[in-house]
Amino acid sequence: MDTDYDVIIAGAGVAGMVTAASAAKHSKGTLRILVIDRNSKDEAGKKTSAGWVCGDAVSKNSLDYLHREVDIRYDKPELEQAVHGVVAYSPDHSSKAMFDGEGYVLNRKLLPQRQLRDAEKLGVEFLFDTYAEALRTDDGFITGVHCRSAKNNSTFNKSSKLVVDATGSASRLRTSLPIKSRIEKEIDKENDMESTGRYIIKFEAAKKDSTFFDPNYCIIHLDQEIAPGGYAWVFPKGEDKMNVGLGVQKRLLERRNRRLGRKDTLQSLIDEYVRTNPVIRSWKPSEMVDDKGNEKGSWQVPVRRQNDCMVANGYMIVGDAAWMPRPIDAGGIGPAIYASTIAGKVISETLEAKDTSERGLWKFNTEYVKAYGYRMASFEILRRFLQILSNEDLNYGMKHFLGQDDVDSITRREHPEFKQVSLSSPARIIWALPRLALARGLRYTAHKSMRLIQHYMNYPSSPEGFEEWHTKFMNELREAFNKFS
Ligand SMILES: Cc1cc2nc3c(=O)[nH]c(=O)nc-3n(C[C@H](O)[C@H](O)[C@H](O)COP(=O)(O)OP(=O)(O)OC[C@H]3O[C@@H](n4cnc5c(N)ncnc54)[C@H](O)[C@@H]3O)c2cc1C
Repeated sequence: MDTDYDVIIAGAGVAGMVTAASAAKHSKGTLRILVIDRNSKDEAGKKTSAGWVCGDAVSKNSLDYLHREVDIRYDKPELEQAVHGVVAYSPDHSSKAMFDGEGYVLNRKLLPQRQLRDAEKLGVEFLFDTYAEALRTDDGFITGVHCRSAKNNSTFNKSSKLVVDATGSASRLRTSLPIKSRIEKEIDKENDMESTGRYIIKFEAAKKDSTFFDPNYCIIHLDQEIAPGGYAWVFPKGEDKMNVGLGVQKRLLERRNRRLGRKDTLQSLIDEYVRTNPVIRSWKPSEMVDDKGNEKGSWQVPVRRQNDCMVANGYMIVGDAAWMPRPIDAGGIGPAIYASTIAGKVISETLEAKDTSERGLWKFNTEYVKAYGYRMASFEILRRFLQILSNEDLNYGMKHFLGQDDVDSITRREHPEFKQVSLSSPARIIWALPRLALARGLRYTAHKSMRLIQHYMNYPSSPEGFEEWHTKFMNELREAFNKFS
């Protein structure tokens, strides 16, 4: 079949750009690849009219992976600030845990420009100012995209052997997928979407307090009053510049408001969080040209495991469109880099083998699950458990129940085992007595997580095994959901 392109990638965010570069690299430039984005070229990758809304933090590990696999290494100015790691503080600030190791705070507006140059050098074509409005089909396969010009509303079609949906968390392509598939179309918005927002600001310092700002560390504040069901963050972008914001679960914010008789919104919480930061004497949105149009904004992040199936005949989902951000910290750049790199490799192989069926693309599911995705369901359970804890639980838990082993596990993106809260003897139970329910909850979470990880490691090697695997998996998961509901 003659098509305009081999691959069309909808969305020029992190996921779309890395998929394009990886597919071009792995196919040694033989594939005709088109990336479509609704933004203009100089605003590539802009998530919403409010900008490239993000906390901007990424681990060095994921960038090293990209370098190893696709031979692309980012640098200044898109890497705005190097950091030694992430420090999470308990609500009373008396305990802290250091996660993650080396990383960077990105300039998300400049990153797509760098990615665009890299992809163009590899032969990728771009179509900007264009909406990917709907998927085209033929005989149970996706065969291209119905497009609409953002400039003059004209409509036209582009055909391809494969369409990759990298249009982010509000993907309309996935929700209206017109062929039979195993991909879940809708997310549970109430439980699995976080509302998040942030400023990029310049500030004049009132004093030094490294629990509120540290140019060498990304700071996370766990606090159910400030950020119910989520967390607040201060990520450095220089000595007097920061990305500052927070994420909430809407339902838990409403519950908190009812309890406190308040009418706070996401924005009022962010404003209060900035106002009460003792390091900030005065502040204003960054006026740097590289931040213009990106100083303030809010957007949604999925915080469940990735879609349990990410391929269909002629179609793949990646990045936020596939719900890839890590459930406990909503970090989506790292998973998008791993997944898109793998996606590019699989695209190259399947097109060479002339098999873009669900079966032909299935390797994307298995390879991503093996490399990264197998632990996401366990983090989903941990996230659900953490969300029901009070500030007192968090203070106590971080002080007494969180061991260095657990911190190391989280840094390795493994599920913590919470060995500290072993309730194996009467003495241990007496020791844990002040917060026995919390200790039991942590033990349950650790146990359930191991089972979920085990189950995900047995991900089916072909579509036939999926239904049976998925039914068992959902039974396991639902038991935990019910426990924490
Ligand atoms: C406030 C906030 C803070 C965050 N902080 C962090 C953090 O510190 N670290 C981290 O790792 N992750 C963070 N995340 C998550 C991270 O930003 C996302 O996981 C990541 O951007 C996902 O990339 P993506 O390419 O999948 O989607 P997106 O970045 O959303 O890109 C999608 C692209 O597709 C385009 N598009 C959408 N629909 C269409 C269409 N129909 N046609 C054509 N183009 C379309 C969009 O305009 C955009 O260019 C944060 C998210 C938010 C909202």
